[in-house]
Amino acid sequence: MTAYTAIVEKQRRFFKSGKTQPIEFRIEQLETMKRMLKENVDKISDAVYKDIHRSKPQAYCYEVSNVIIEIDYMIDNIADWSKPHPVEKTMMTMLDSPMVKKDPLGVVLIITPWNYPINMAFLPLVPAIAAGNTAIIKPSEIAPHCADVIAEMVAKHFDPEVLAVIKGGVNETTELLKERFDHILYTGAPPVGKLIMAAAAKHLTPVTLELGGKCPVIVEKDADIEIAGKRIAWGKWLNCGQTCLAPDYILTTAEVKPKLVAAMKKAVDSFYEGNPKTHDDYARVINDRHFERLSTLLDKTEGTVLMGGERDKSDLYIQPTILDVKATDAFMQDEIFGPVLPIVTIKSLDEALEHIKDGEKPLAAYIFTN
Ligand code: NAD
Repeated sequence: MTAYTAIVEKQRRFFKSGKTQPIEFRIEQLETMKRMLKENVDKISDAVYKDIHRSKPQAYCYEVSNVIIEIDYMIDNIADWSKPHPVEKTMMTMLDSPMVKKDPLGVVLIITPWNYPINMAFLPLVPAIAAGNTAIIKPSEIAPHCADVIAEMVAKHFDPEVLAVIKGGVNETTELLKERFDHILYTGAPPVGKLIMAAAAKHLTPVTLELGGKCPVIVEKDADIEIAGKRIAWGKWLNCGQTCLAPDYILTTAEVKPKLVAAMKKAVDSFYEGNPKTHDDYARVINDRHFERLSTLLDKTEGTVLMGGERDKSDLYIQPTILDVKATDAFMQDEIFGPVLPIVTIKSLDEALEHIKDGEKPLAAYIFTN
């Protein structure tokens, strides 16, 4: 029996004992999670800064606060959501009392990405625990300080029969995926999502895949261009463009483009007070591999630089950058996941919509219009 099998078996035994079933037990776990996160905000902020150079005051906002909101929302609704719901009778069930009864599944594996390393571990955990499952978190090895904090906090506050953390990279995750789980929640890039689904298929384990994509932004000429520029700049350069919902590229007309670029330049200037490199609010590219990936695209692009373009490998720094590109450009193939924002010029809204529909489904799509 491997160490992983032992952890999974221990959790499965605990689950089968029925101890996770009472609502009171689930609420207690959620309250513990809330207390644990609040107590560890400083440690979390330090770890996020070490891993991704995101400013410490932002950690509460982007890593902790929405998990706490989710926990409170769960606690408020758990009794209602978990009770059986009666369903309409049919000819076949006329003499019965048909209802949908919600049962927890068992042992849930949560595999997380590095870009919001604490948030992405605990947001999926909240419903998993609220629903009466046990869980194992496999944090991303690419944010190692955050993985350490997650493991340390969880070991201190939770019984491993309910919640455990297994650290590791590709090899460890591949081994772990040989175990039989009752559900797998995976957040990350689509190519790895395919591997997770294939591994889960061997046990017929259901999966939830929270993937990425190229999120388009359409800006129409009747929009408030100043506001559009400011909002796009915030969403794009937060966390150095490494946000699943970040604007990936812009579709706009030749008439709007110069005004929009001016508005984004103004916003970037004001956010980072003239110098993103020295400003606390500007994060860094996560590691050498991602820096090289983005650098190769910057070398390959046939687009024109409209803003930024500076890079410094020793500091994993890429300046907030805007490019004017064709729809066939290197930056228009896969999700960018970095601080480069290409603009593709279109003639009409119909052309923009056609372009979006021709591609893979994005995670989000934005439009600025009146
Ligand atoms: P990733 O796919 O590289 O890694 C995610 C996890 O998968 C890590 O824990 C990693 O250890 C594991 N992993 C990596 N390769 C593996 C392999 N070969 N076999 C088994 N496990 C493996 O993703 P990432 O780079 O950490 O995250 C970025 C992606 O996540 C982006 O595409 C982004 O859009 C997406 N994302 C989506 C959401 C959402 O809510 N939809 C949120 C955040 C990030």
